[in-house]
Amino acid sequence: MHPSHISQQPSPTVARTGGGAEQRVLLVFVDALGPSQLEFAGGLGGLPYRGHLHGILGYSCGALPTILTGTAPEQHGRMCLFSQANQGTGVLSPLVHLGLLPRLIHERGRVRRLAAKVLARTAGLTGYVDLYRVPPELFEWLDMPEREDLFTAERIGGQETFLSEARKAGLRVFTAPWRMPEAERWQHTVETLRTKRPQLAFAYATEIDGALHRTGNGSQEAAAAARRVTTGIERAVEAMRSGGGEVTTIVVGDHGMADIHRVIDPRPLLRHLSGTRLFVDSTMMRFWGSDQELDRARALVEAEGLPGRWLDSRELQARKAPVKDEPYGRAFLVLDEGNLFSPSFVGGTVRGMHGYDVDCHSARAAIASDRPIPAGVGALTDVATWIRSLLGLGNSGVSWAA
Ligand SMILES: [Zn+2]
Repeated sequence: MHPSHISQQPSPTVARTGGGAEQRVLLVFVDALGPSQLEFAGGLGGLPYRGHLHGILGYSCGALPTILTGTAPEQHGRMCLFSQANQGTGVLSPLVHLGLLPRLIHERGRVRRLAAKVLARTAGLTGYVDLYRVPPELFEWLDMPEREDLFTAERIGGQETFLSEARKAGLRVFTAPWRMPEAERWQHTVETLRTKRPQLAFAYATEIDGALHRTGNGSQEAAAAARRVTTGIERAVEAMRSGGGEVTTIVVGDHGMADIHRVIDPRPLLRHLSGTRLFVDSTMMRFWGSDQELDRARALVEAEGLPGRWLDSRELQARKAPVKDEPYGRAFLVLDEGNLFSPSFVGGTVRGMHGYDVDCHSARAAIASDRPIPAGVGALTDVATWIRSLLGLGNSGVSWAA
């Protein structure tokens, strides 16, 4: 077990409000930046302080709200892209009525993208929408919890984000437009940091995640992506510092990445499980149903000898997963690190994946900064607290400044 970070002993102090230099924070979110990926990327520039953060069970759609709100998935309710709809409120059910259903069966990327676009428009979704390879008959009972733009939403699942708190406090806040292509987004970010002098800036990089999924750890593609992100960060830091004040730069990931060494076709098991309500993500199979149905599912999974752990509601609760109303399932089979379901309902075979149990190396996120990382920052849930403290936001009695 590594210490959670490499930093000096921090001294607890009150939040900095007024007096001294203006506090400004540049937060760079790098998708799939785990401790190994940060090392491989040479630290992503000249940030001397590095640490590890405990991650969450689930995927980026749960990790990002955790970073933004400082709360666990059990509080903000986000974890996987697809959940079970509450009676009659499923945002995907219109797809059935849009007449797109028969065509979706062909699983053609173009048709699916069109359907996602139509859905986003008709349902007023401003968040990330992708239908992947979800079997169309599941749209009847499935839902997509992420309906808002996470960077502009005041709250996520009832939990306020530090971005929203900063805006309310009258600070100039910049968030990178996530829909923009990566290179263009960096260009836009650097220009805005120079001209608008935000007090809080949130930059956003996803290309390392994409490269690692496609080609795995240590690949040339991942190295090239890491070099581009390093350049983007260096330019953003320079632009932020040119505006004066006391600038703190924090680079944070949401999880790491595991290389895939075994691909498991779930279809034979799914045939045995027909009639059971379930969803197959890339690294987990999620089940709903009565005790008897779950017992039967578990017995079938064990008979197949799948490499993984069965997480019942007690185990899910221990991982701070949302269990109230069972949005993501009543029990999970989470595969051991390095195994992949393919074809799953969200994709096919890739070289790298994340979304394993919380004690896996790839479930950890990396953090790096030009300021010593406070001792209290050891999990994804702690990042928001640090940022609030640096900017003097909220009324937190507990705050850190190193
Ligand atoms: Zn990913």
